[in-house]
Amino acid sequence: MTEQYQDISRIKSAELFEKAKQFFPGGVNSPVRAFKSVYGTPLFIERGDKAHLWDADGNEFIDYCCSWGPLILGHNNADIRNAVAGQLDKGLSFGAPTQLENELAELILSNNTYIEKIRFVSSGTEAVMSAIRLARGYTKRDKIVKFEGCYHGHSDSLLVKAGSGLVTFGETSSAGVPKAFADETIVIALNDTQALEEVFATFKDQIAAVIIEGVPANNGLLIQDHDYINFLRRITQEQGTLLIFDEVITGFRLGFQGAAHYYGVQPDIITYGKIIGGGMPVGAYGASHELMGYISPDGGVYQAGTLSGNPVAMAAGIATLRQLAAPGFYEKQEKTTAAFVDTLRSYIAEKEYEVKIFTIGSIFWFAFTAQESIKRADEIDPQSMEKYKVMHRSLLNQGIYFGPSGYEVGFISSAHTETDLEQTIIAIKAALDIVF
Ligand code: PLP
Repeated sequence: MTEQYQDISRIKSAELFEKAKQFFPGGVNSPVRAFKSVYGTPLFIERGDKAHLWDADGNEFIDYCCSWGPLILGHNNADIRNAVAGQLDKGLSFGAPTQLENELAELILSNNTYIEKIRFVSSGTEAVMSAIRLARGYTKRDKIVKFEGCYHGHSDSLLVKAGSGLVTFGETSSAGVPKAFADETIVIALNDTQALEEVFATFKDQIAAVIIEGVPANNGLLIQDHDYINFLRRITQEQGTLLIFDEVITGFRLGFQGAAHYYGVQPDIITYGKIIGGGMPVGAYGASHELMGYISPDGGVYQAGTLSGNPVAMAAGIATLRQLAAPGFYEKQEKTTAAFVDTLRSYIAEKEYEVKIFTIGSIFWFAFTAQESIKRADEIDPQSMEKYKVMHRSLLNQGIYFGPSGYEVGFISSAHTETDLEQTIIAIKAALDIVF
């Protein structure tokens, strides 16, 4: 492994980070942003346009983090900006219903056969937390099953063996989660039918919900087999347990119908976030009319929010989904991503480098492994993250911005041009030459 670098200047970012450390734990407002598991201090971003980012030192990057997924149309999208600006003239928040909520809901529901009713909240965390409460309220059971490596936001019962943000820092579960809460969360490995059968045998009639990320993408990209997801549907139905698809990443990334359509499986509850807010804070959960009837004020499952359905966020979401609804949008995204990945795979094969690129839709993940597929979190060798660290440093130095952890996936937006992708391919090849 060669360690030859000409590092970009991070003087301003380093100064800002020092100051931020006075204000925020670890200098950040969300842990993985601290760049703890990759080289150097975090970059303080000044602005973004299309697929590009500029940091406080004036460095320019082609961005594959895309704000962790929401920016499927890239930065500073004209329609979103205009929609937000238009709403700013009218008001920021009313705490009362607006026509914009109807409009976004209609866009979602009329293009989705898997849910009949929806409720908007302000983050993916809230969406999942509320979905779990709904499942518990409906089934009158307390326990939930989640999968090792799946991240569902930072509510108490879901911060157990929960993916990148924790595993990046050498932990798998959060301190501060009461034992009584953690006891209600049963964590098993993905892709293990026997483990789930055993759980249902042990906790008969006690499990409210099984929750899985549409396609697990928070601890690497762990693409599950159709058979396994069908098994989840079958066994949950037999056991009177609800199946929740957390589509905070996959919703509107894999198409309007997300992972549910990809697998051809009808979940009981689906959660959304990221893309439906177009870069603004939005989350949502949806289900059948019957299930959603359990939500307050119609039913006894309480959930509320001062800024739920915020008009500015709704305007951004509407402007986003309208563009995604254009014929051929997703086909183009997938074709672009496949071509990008194929070119890199050819290079990797030619050089016989031990790295794989897993991909679905416009999501990709570099795994430094000899395995042909990875379906479980424990199949990832933590040592392989050292290689990611080297790659990440080289990429930043070449103007390519990947997520600051090897457990994070990358996203391609519609704003990535052919030139952007060609430049990125050259940079990745050079980075891999350094890694190996
Ligand atoms: N669920 C999944 C699958 C996620 O990836 C995330 C965030 O990355 C969340 C839930 C939580 O969303 P938020 O960060 O908006 O609270």
